[in-house]
This record gives sequence, C-alpha cells and structure tokens, in this order.
Amino acid sequence: MAYSFSLGPIRPPSEAYSLLIRVTINCPWNRCKFCSTYKGRKFQLRPVAEIKQDIETARIIQDKIKELSWKSGYGGRVKEIAGMVFNIIPDEAFYNVARWLQAGGENVFLQDANSLIMRTNELVEVIRFLKETFPNIKRITTYARSKTAAKKKVEELVELHEAGLSRIHIGLESGYDPLLEYMDKGVTAAEHIKGGRNIVESGISLSEYVLLGLGGKEMWREHATQTARVLNEIDPHFIRTRTLVINDRIPLHSEVENGNFTRATDEEILEEEKLLIEHLECHSNYVSDHINNLLQEIEGKLPEDKGKMLAVIDRFQTLPPEERTNFRVGRRVGMYTELDDLYDWHKRQAVERVIQRLGRDGKEVDEGTIYALMEGFIS
Ligand code: SF4
Repeated sequence: MAYSFSLGPIRPPSEAYSLLIRVTINCPWNRCKFCSTYKGRKFQLRPVAEIKQDIETARIIQDKIKELSWKSGYGGRVKEIAGMVFNIIPDEAFYNVARWLQAGGENVFLQDANSLIMRTNELVEVIRFLKETFPNIKRITTYARSKTAAKKKVEELVELHEAGLSRIHIGLESGYDPLLEYMDKGVTAAEHIKGGRNIVESGISLSEYVLLGLGGKEMWREHATQTARVLNEIDPHFIRTRTLVINDRIPLHSEVENGNFTRATDEEILEEEKLLIEHLECHSNYVSDHINNLLQEIEGKLPEDKGKMLAVIDRFQTLPPEERTNFRVGRRVGMYTELDDLYDWHKRQAVERVIQRLGRDGKEVDEGTIYALMEGFIS
C-alpha cells in the first residue's frame, strides 16, 4: 500500500473512532507488573518531521476516500462509503481514517503511552500542524504518565492546551503507595496528585483510570480507600474504571503462580469498588466504559449520583447466588451487558446452556472457569 502511517497498539475505549496519530513509540517506563502492552518493545521518540509526514499521509488518505465518494456518486460524503473502503483497501491506516471520517472526523488521539515526554515545543508544533491540516478537529487527547505530568510546568501544559490538547488520560491504577511500589508503577501517590493537579490547573480535561482488582485479596481495602483519597485531591473531570485481567503475558502472572499475589473474585472486586465509591468526595464523571468491568452500568456524576451507583452494586449483591453466577458467566462470554439482561429470555437461555456445558456433573461453575472465560473473552 503506497499510503500508510504508523499506528500504535491501543487507545482508550472512548477514542474508538478517533484518528490515531503516533507521536512516540511504545512506553518509556514499561515495567508495570500488570501490563503487557509494550513488553519487549523499545521506547522511541519520533522526529517531528516524521510525525508530520504521518499527518500529511492521513490527509492524503482522507482525500482519496472523498475522491472515491465522488466517483461512487455520493458527492464527497464519506459516511456512506466507509464500508466500501473497509472492503476494498485492506490497510489499517485506511481503515482508521475511514472509520474516523464515518464518525464525523472531529477527534484525534495521540499515541503511544506517554506523549508528555516529548519536548513541549515539539508537541505544540505537532498539535498545531494537526489542526492546520484538519481544520474540523474539535478534540485532541492523549495518554500520559503522572510522573511526567508532575514534572511539567503548569505553563507548559497551558501552552499545550492553547495549542489544542483537550484531554489527557492517565493510568492512575491505585493511590496506595505500597501497592504502586509492588506493581512497579514507577510513581507515588504524591506524584499522582501533583501530576493530576497540574493538568486540571492547566485547563486540560483529565481522565484518571483506576484498575479494579489491583489490590488482590491482600490490599483491596487500602487500594480502594487510598485511591479515593488521591482522586479526591485531584478532582479529575473523569474517573474511568477497568478491571485487572491476569494472563500469562504479564509479570503479575508469575506472582500469582508463586503465591505472592492472590487475585480477587468478581464479587470481591465489586466490594472493593463499593468502598471506593463510598469514599469518593469529588466532582468527577464516573465512567465504567471498559468491556472487562462486571457492571458497566455503574456510571454517574459525582457526588449527586453516588447513591444511584451504589444501588447498582447493591442490586447485584442481593441477587441469589445462582443468579449472580449466571450474570457473571453471561458477562464473561459477552452475552449480557447489564443486570436487566438476566430477564431477557433469549440471552438467559443461551447463558444457561453455557453454564450447563461448563458445570460438568451438575457442579457449580468455579472461579477458575470464570477467570478463564474472562481472559479468553478479553484477549
Ligand atoms: S506506564 Fe502504562 S503503558 Fe507503561 S508499562 Fe505501565 S501501564 Fe503499561
């Protein structure tokens, strides 16, 4: 394919339809025990000229897609022909641009793990070029590490905001220092707070990701309460949750094997999330937009929706044990999205069949089987 550009492996769920522009490659830290995304891959800064070349290529791809629209009789409109592009041009970059245009062509996500590590003037130059090349852009977001944000001057972050950086997504994971250290996150609770406050102060919207289950059976209480404490101090615009998945590609897997870390069950993780929400006293939007969360319907604006969010947990916890198992299996095989799905006859029948297959000899579906379903579904 003559026209293509570099794409990184991940973006937040909320950026599923964003144009992806890779400003750095891989993760400069790359040591967190629970993360496999960039393991074995070397971090690289990219020259600004190279990033601009990728942006330019994305524009050429956009023009080619519009040209195809004209030729197909759609008058330059791209939504109608995005499906055609997916079929005839088997290239990931074309696919990304087509999907982005189909969704309105307004949001951009800068990859990979920590864009703030770039020199501020270089990142400003990239953002300005992006906006000149695509004047319709309304939102530019990226991932960053708290430690790097803590080292940036607020004035530099203001400069990035004025250039067009709208939102930063940070993997907070936990606010409990011994857990951060154990997981080799490379950041302290104090640095999380400093980095988060710097971003909020600059006017850039901030999303903090909490990793549910990270405390395991050993540290879940402190994980919940200390994470709430740190979030209360930061008061980010968004708190987003995702749930720990332990597969054999992450270093934490061997800690489980050798007995140093005991993974929590779905039900224990919900108890942890309940404690977290109970201790939150901030004004954030609480979002559960990751597929691996058991109850994605725990969402709302704090503080006013706290009771509503806790009621969702309570509703699950007061179900009879077999109903809870049914829901967990349904979630982990991708058949249920919310608790009301338990009363959808067709979905329910399908989940019952799965449970019959899994619970050999009429025995209960055990925790190991549910973990395996979750890992198989997510990976
Ligand atoms: S900083 Fe983020 S991307 Fe890098 S290893 Fe840790 S979790 Fe993974």
